[in-house]
Amino acid sequence: MTKTSAQQTEQHHFPLVIVGAGMVGAALACALHDAGIDSLLLEAGTLNDQTDWSADDVDPRVSALSLASQNLLTHIGAWPRITAMGRLQDYQRMYVWDGCGTGHIEFKASEQHLPNLGHILENKTITSALHQELEQRAIPVWTQVVLQDISPQSQSPRRLNLADGRVITADLVVGADGANSKVRQLSGLPTREWDYPHHALVTRVALTQSHANTAWQRFTENGILALLPLRSPDDSKAGSHCSIVWSMPALTAKEHQAMPEDDFCLALEQAFEGRLGKVLSTDARYVIPLRQRHAKSYYQAGLVLVGDAAHTIHPLAGQGVNLGFLDVAALVQTLQEAQHTGQQFGDSKVLNTYQQRRRGDNLRMMALMESFARLFGNQHPLLSMLRNQAMHSMQSLAPIKQHLAQEALGVGKHLPPLARP
Ligand SMILES: Cc1cc2nc3c(=O)[nH]c(=O)nc-3n(C[C@H](O)[C@H](O)[C@H](O)COP(=O)(O)OP(=O)(O)OC[C@H]3O[C@@H](n4cnc5c(N)ncnc54)[C@H](O)[C@@H]3O)c2cc1C
Repeated sequence: MTKTSAQQTEQHHFPLVIVGAGMVGAALACALHDAGIDSLLLEAGTLNDQTDWSADDVDPRVSALSLASQNLLTHIGAWPRITAMGRLQDYQRMYVWDGCGTGHIEFKASEQHLPNLGHILENKTITSALHQELEQRAIPVWTQVVLQDISPQSQSPRRLNLADGRVITADLVVGADGANSKVRQLSGLPTREWDYPHHALVTRVALTQSHANTAWQRFTENGILALLPLRSPDDSKAGSHCSIVWSMPALTAKEHQAMPEDDFCLALEQAFEGRLGKVLSTDARYVIPLRQRHAKSYYQAGLVLVGDAAHTIHPLAGQGVNLGFLDVAALVQTLQEAQHTGQQFGDSKVLNTYQQRRRGDNLRMMALMESFARLFGNQHPLLSMLRNQAMHSMQSLAPIKQHLAQEALGVGKHLPPLARP
């Protein structure tokens, strides 16, 4: 299914071309195929269709997947593959507290009448399952492509020029090529964006105590520390493994990355108030700069953005790819409707319907995360007092807590069909 050799001056036409075979692009291609819509996927890297992982094989990037994302992955057949890989960890509880006070807020699956609040997975398990689904459907994927140009502007069909000389025309080009989207840049779709003063340090750690199937998050004077429960490679052993996402000032993050392992484990244990016992070891530590970005418009005639290409969000609530999967569900719904009414996929009116279905929700979630990041990033004593008071109130006010949980869990009423059970 993969073409890597240069095929000079070859011309191809597809109704749809998706640029980027990451979690969002690959899920979109599978869901479109199931809706009877053919597409070609272009990927700058290679595919990951690894089926068996050794216990030592670790992906430091993990995602907390909502129930809506699980529903989408189930509809396209990827969820059973993920389950079969045996690396899936559900979480029953989420516990968030302010390290500069006594405020805390707690969400439990039982309060929401749900079997769990979601699952934590290494990203590689998701892409691996999705790439196997692409192969099973014989969806064409061209890997190691270098996209050079998209023309003409704001008009369908579009022409894509690849560096090896191949030319593709498409009624609709979908940019699923991540935060630094070349599709977005080539189309000139403007964004609103800014750096957070923080970088995220991510790694996997081994702990002496059980993570208790809980996603833990502590707001500290330096940033936000999340410990997300992972399925341990050896379930028979005591203790547990967690993925950490620790956002902190850029310089502090680099210092923590460079620390000798024992010093880092101690620093982490202290930052986490020793709540999960001792930190025994850590895998390789990675530092990722955090930047918020939102495209002012998700489309032009013949071109549309999904996932991180349209919006990148602070990882503090673990919502990035969940929003991307909802984009997928909404775009598939919109294109199916267009197909039934005989409209062109690249028609601005069609793409505006998709934008209306997603932009408000994405903006609301981004604004919520932004206000959390700012509220907890400020150590003014008065603000700290108000923050703790707000957490106490929220914890005791069931309707507000319920609303927050529903937003984050992806169990709202207005979900597109593919995101429903
Ligand atoms: C520290 C951290 C923690 C996070 N935790 C969570 C979490 O718990 N839950 C959650 O929902 N989200 C989380 N996120 C966000 C999540 O990782 C992203 O939202 C998600 O990876 C976006 O998926 P995507 O497919 O849109 O983009 P990407 O994952 O970036 O995939 C883009 C794909 O496009 C390809 N590509 C790029 N450029 C080109 C090109 N020019 N031509 C062809 N192909 C191209 C890339 O190779 C890649 O395969 C986290 C993010 C960070 C930084």
